[in-house]
Amino acid sequence: MVTLQLAAPSNAFILFNGRDLSNWTARDGGDPGWTVEDGILHVVPRTGDIIHTEPLSDFYLHLEFRCPDMPEATGQAKGNSGVFLQALYEIQVLDSSHVNIPGTGDCGAFYLESAPLVNACRPAMEWQTYDICFRAPRLDESGDVTEHARATVLQNGIVIQNNVQISGPTGSASGMTVGTSGPLRLQDHGDRVAYRNIWAVPLPTKGSDTYEPQ
Ligand code: MG
Repeated sequence: MVTLQLAAPSNAFILFNGRDLSNWTARDGGDPGWTVEDGILHVVPRTGDIIHTEPLSDFYLHLEFRCPDMPEATGQAKGNSGVFLQALYEIQVLDSSHVNIPGTGDCGAFYLESAPLVNACRPAMEWQTYDICFRAPRLDESGDVTEHARATVLQNGIVIQNNVQISGPTGSASGMTVGTSGPLRLQDHGDRVAYRNIWAVPLPTKGSDTYEPQ
C-alpha cells in the first residue's frame, strides 16, 4: 500500500498543527470537542463540527482522512464526515470504497451537487488524500454572485472533480450567506473519522496583465 503524504510547501498556511486544536472552534465559537492524538485529529461523535478561525478566498488545500471500518453500516451512516470549503461547500467524506458508480452522496462528491468522476476511494482504515484547488465565488458590489464557486479535486492523486461549478451552499449549509471568503469546516456526522496533515496555500485571485517580456 502506498500512502500519499505530501509535505506542506514553505508558503503553506498550516491549518492543523498536529498537536492541538489551536485556531479551531466549535461552530458557536466555543471550544472544539474533537481530540488530537499522535498527530491525528479525531472526530468525537456528537460534539459538533469544528471550524477554523482563518477565512480563505481562493486556495489550494491538502488534507488526509481515514474512514472507520463499519462493516454493518450502509449509505450515509458508513464513515461519514465532510470537508466544507469556506464552511459552505461540502466535499463528502464517506466509506464509498465498495460503490460501483459513485453518486452525489458518495465520497468525493460535492454533496447533492456533483458526483465524483470515478471511484478513487481506498478501503476503510486506509489514509486517503484530498488535494483541492478552489476558486471562490465572485460577487458584485451589491453582494450578488456573478460567478459561482469552482473546484478541482484530486482524491489519492486521481482527478475526481474537474473544475466543477458549485451553484451554492450544499446540504446542511444551504441557505447560508455566500461570500468571497470563509473558513474551513470539518463535519461531525456521528462517525469516528480521522484527519491529519491539513494545510492550504492561499492563491491570488488574479494574475497580472503583464505581457511584454521584462
Ligand atoms: Mg458528510
